[in-house]
Amino acid sequence: MNAGCTDSSCSMCGRPVVVFAAHTGAGEKKYSVCYCEACVLGKTVPSPDDATLHELHSTQYYRNGEGVRFATPFEWLVEGMRRWRVYRLSHFVRNGRALDIGCGSGRFLRALRHSGWEVAGLELNDDTATAARTVHGLMVETALGAFTDESFDLISITHVLEHIRDPRQMLADCGRLLKPGGVIAVAVPNIDSWQARWTRDGWFHLDLPRHLWHFSEGWLSATLNECGFEVLKARRLDLAHNIFGWLQSLLNSLGLRYNRFYSFLSSDDLDTDNLTHYFSLVVSLLLLPLFIPLSLLLAVLEALFHAGGTVEIIARRTAIEHRSEGN
Ligand SMILES: [Zn+2]
Repeated sequence: MNAGCTDSSCSMCGRPVVVFAAHTGAGEKKYSVCYCEACVLGKTVPSPDDATLHELHSTQYYRNGEGVRFATPFEWLVEGMRRWRVYRLSHFVRNGRALDIGCGSGRFLRALRHSGWEVAGLELNDDTATAARTVHGLMVETALGAFTDESFDLISITHVLEHIRDPRQMLADCGRLLKPGGVIAVAVPNIDSWQARWTRDGWFHLDLPRHLWHFSEGWLSATLNECGFEVLKARRLDLAHNIFGWLQSLLNSLGLRYNRFYSFLSSDDLDTDNLTHYFSLVVSLLLLPLFIPLSLLLAVLEALFHAGGTVEIIARRTAIEHRSEGN
């Protein structure tokens, strides 16, 4: 039963871990999420090597050079949500210089720039970074070391931290790059959510093995505190991520082809040649009238019980940490 996690212990606290979920990723390789109950934190085991990760995040696999991932109406919806996020963040920090970590082709940076922010991005994938620079004229670097300490008023890191090998170090680095009093907004899938706990292997946001870590609100808040941040707000109802998380996780739990509906939305792929894929898509589409309202209801309920499928934490860098890191 413990296959995949028996030889592992928690990377953060050293305690024993248990299998939370297991999955077959790209290349038919088996991955497990090894979960520490004390930290409320999961880790993907085995950890993919750099070459595999690079391939999994390549421009062709993840999005095209323009940054488009979905059919047009969904792209409009996602763009509206980016603008809404800029507006929400303005309640915590009004203007100045903003950094988006894992900026992709720079769509969120463009929304910030549109609202008067001076913007910069970090994108580890060279091809994607080049596209962001040439297509959208953005300042995008491929290494964190390119940025000056205490030079940002806002750092956004949205659904990126779970892709990074050393997330704690990344949060500490963000603290260093922010001016004292600067604000960080971190959004991650929540392994402590109802949708994760109920659907386990079928959870849409598992995304193995691209997601190296599986965080919870508790772990993220505690780690932000340790890195010199004061948590201002936790947001647990992200309509797009959480409702779709339920919808696709419920479909996955019925035994349909994993994330088949999502693949259809992101690539318009009907795949009529493969009967299993085609059957899964047709059944998914037939179930939408029932599953969309059900997913909305579940997303609202889990958020009310502080167990949203994803969580976004807004935190402010405190001046105290600034002094202790001064040299
Ligand atoms: Zn632990």
